[in-house]
Amino acid sequence: MTKTTKTSRISTASPVAVRDQSPAVEERIYQDIYDAIMEHRLPPRTKLTEQVLCQIYDTARHTVRKVLSRLATEGLVDLEANRGAFIASPSHAEVKDMFELRNIIEYAVLDKVGREASTRQIAGLRRMVEEERQSYLTGDRPRWIRLSAQFHLALADLTGNTLLVDTLRKLVSRTTLMIAKTEAPGHNACSFDEHDTVLAALESGDITLAQQHMAHHLHLCEDRVRPDDTDHFDLRSVLGKG
Ligand SMILES: [Zn+2]
Repeated sequence: MTKTTKTSRISTASPVAVRDQSPAVEERIYQDIYDAIMEHRLPPRTKLTEQVLCQIYDTARHTVRKVLSRLATEGLVDLEANRGAFIASPSHAEVKDMFELRNIIEYAVLDKVGREASTRQIAGLRRMVEEERQSYLTGDRPRWIRLSAQFHLALADLTGNTLLVDTLRKLVSRTTLMIAKTEAPGHNACSFDEHDTVLAALESGDITLAQQHMAHHLHLCEDRVRPDDTDHFDLRSVLGKG
């Protein structure tokens, strides 16, 4: 990573047209792109042109690069030498491998969490699934998609193994982005009803049943992956700065 010069802009900052390079801007760009990817407003293989993003957000190139680098770490963006950044587009074979790996990891996660998690921790997961349901019912699609991915990571987080969480984060992001965008009820990217069955089994202390529900859920998620998405798109209009 290139070293950037940070200058203090506290209190003495003048209101002159200085480009805002604060972490808040970085976070906003990240969230905008993350949501657009997960909602398939920006389909896989879309080129994320640095210059255009700088113009859209009126920010410096290094800020955009930091965001792209973060998205790449999470598996949502592929950085290609001399070609730039593209929304990740895993092949069918990779998607299959990723779900296989998720099955192995999430099976082990449930085993450990089922044996070690406290009632309070499980209650936290219950609240998360309820929030997920509410976001869906109120039509807050970006929040719903974020929470549905977060459920898997929150479960993994209870193992206390950060390497496991980081590995799973990339797999969850990368597989979720490949799941077809569809508004039809019952064909959701990651259904809270399915999360609910996993959680209910955990709450009743039945680890084997929780593992079976998770395997079934991941199988359904894999079935929802659509190979290609050729929607028309435009960076400026998608990121709301038309
Ligand atoms: Zn899920």
